[in-house]
Amino acid sequence: MLEAIEKLLALQDRDQRLRTLRLELQSIPLEIASKQKLVEDAASRLQTARSRSMAIEVEKKALEGEIAAKRDQISRYKNQQLQTRKNEEYSALSHEIATAERAISAIEDKELVLMEEAEGLAPQLVAADKAHAEDKAKYDAQITTIREKEGNLKSRIDEMTAGRVALLEGIDEDLIERYERLFETKNARVVVPVEHDVCTGCHMKVTAQTSLALRSDKSIVSCPQCGRLLHLPL
Ligand SMILES: [Zn+2]
Repeated sequence: MLEAIEKLLALQDRDQRLRTLRLELQSIPLEIASKQKLVEDAASRLQTARSRSMAIEVEKKALEGEIAAKRDQISRYKNQQLQTRKNEEYSALSHEIATAERAISAIEDKELVLMEEAEGLAPQLVAADKAHAEDKAKYDAQITTIREKEGNLKSRIDEMTAGRVALLEGIDEDLIERYERLFETKNARVVVPVEHDVCTGCHMKVTAQTSLALRSDKSIVSCPQCGRLLHLPL
């Protein structure tokens, strides 16, 4: 095998591994964002339960205020009854009192419904609180691990990139340029074996002339179909 091809194979092996590592590194922000989203979802479920529970408290206070106002009204009517001597006015006030009492009992019914809802909500609130705490701990730990992985990937990539320079030594500059162009356009497979006279890059049969040139092992032979650089099976 030509020395240049051998060197390019070593370079390609390094570049393929670097490419895999870089792709993995690129996917990390998305991976972290998806974990953060899960924590936010749990927080928002907890917030929804809390908001409803607070809203119930506010509604209950408002109803209690209404009841207190009605009770005040009733005691004012009762005072007026004590002061009046007119039967008509007395019975009109009795009517007002009865109306206010009915109103109070209707408000109390509403209050009861709210209290039942609050009772049902209490365990949900506890569960949402627990789920949020658990999810947060779990996903935060996972994010820490992912960040660690990110750091490791970065230093591995730096190391391998630094070491790559040595692999370029002794390869013709034009050939390196050609290799790099092909690496981008041919899905990271530039130097490929020919098996049974077929280029394993594009899976097309090579010409007899190409096959012969390859066997003579005197110069770099490229696939006439895809342009990849060819070598005989290892
Ligand atoms: Zn080919």
